[in-house]
Amino acid sequence: MTGCCRPETLEDALSILSRQGAQVLAGGTDWMVKHGQQGPHGGPVLYIAELAELRQIAVHGGEIHIGAACTLTELLESPLVPDCLKQPLAQMASPAIRNIATIGGNLCNASPAADALPMLSAMDAMLSLRSHKAEERLPAEDFLLAPGKPRLAQGQLLVEIHVPLSPKWDCVYRKVGLRRANSLSKVSFCALSDKKAGYVQDVRIAFGAVAPRVVRSREAEKRILSSGHPLTDDQIQAIAAEYGKLLKPIDDARSSRAYRREVSLRLLKWYLREGMNA
Ligand SMILES: Cc1cc2nc3c(=O)[nH]c(=O)nc-3n(C[C@H](O)[C@H](O)[C@H](O)COP(=O)(O)OP(=O)(O)OC[C@H]3O[C@@H](n4cnc5c(N)ncnc54)[C@H](O)[C@@H]3O)c2cc1C
Repeated sequence: MTGCCRPETLEDALSILSRQGAQVLAGGTDWMVKHGQQGPHGGPVLYIAELAELRQIAVHGGEIHIGAACTLTELLESPLVPDCLKQPLAQMASPAIRNIATIGGNLCNASPAADALPMLSAMDAMLSLRSHKAEERLPAEDFLLAPGKPRLAQGQLLVEIHVPLSPKWDCVYRKVGLRRANSLSKVSFCALSDKKAGYVQDVRIAFGAVAPRVVRSREAEKRILSSGHPLTDDQIQAIAAEYGKLLKPIDDARSSRAYRREVSLRLLKWYLREGMNA
């Protein structure tokens, strides 16, 4: 490791990043696993976890703005953060890890099994990226290009996550892992519905850990809404077949391709039959 920079402002951090190609370090809970105590070879380490600009949680214009260096515990304790987003965060890792792990680190590590991205994608969250010269916003859903590859250009930091506050979703989140704590997802399933007078007006479904990117299909969501309620068994089978084509699970140390596919589709069918109408 060739040194560590601890800038005091976001501007300083972005300036260092533009000049030196530093390695970004937030809570370090993914970073340490990847690099070990020696740290990475090459440029200096840029420590961003204490930058005040990245640690705010505030509501503006119908959205909650979450600083990328907020820890999972801070989000869980904030009354501003929607309960739907708290569900995956509460099941991540363990209390000790959640006290230091940041939401930005979870997204930028770009693991297909990371737990925050499926719910953020279902909620149509946007990400704010900044470099020394420019700022851009992009949908959370488009952030993961491939495993380990976030859509971050050289010199860019993820600075904020913007989550729409309406509608007030009814949400279901299921994480399937080896055990309750400190276990990465084999499969994760998020389903949001917006009901008025008992009728579902809008629905969003996202799967994590079963493809290189989050699986969400607007066509399938439209089909669910236009199929009438309750859905018949034939309709449920047809919708499950549509999602089945989008799931691209893999065999790895945590699970098998067949198990991931089977569990994902069972969760979907359960939701369409019972969960959505509860
Ligand atoms: C025991 C254990 C259990 C875990 N359990 C879970 C789990 O259940 N679910 C889950 O999803 N994850 C889990 N994780 C993974 C990890 O804790 C989370 O992904 C965490 O949110 C990462 O945040 P961090 O601040 O520690 O990131 P870091 O390790 O600091 O950084 C991760 C990566 O993101 C980059 N980065 C960080 N912040 C930014 C930013 N603002 N802009 C640009 N790049 C940035 C870093 O350069 C690095 O490449 C677990 C990890 C451990 C060690």
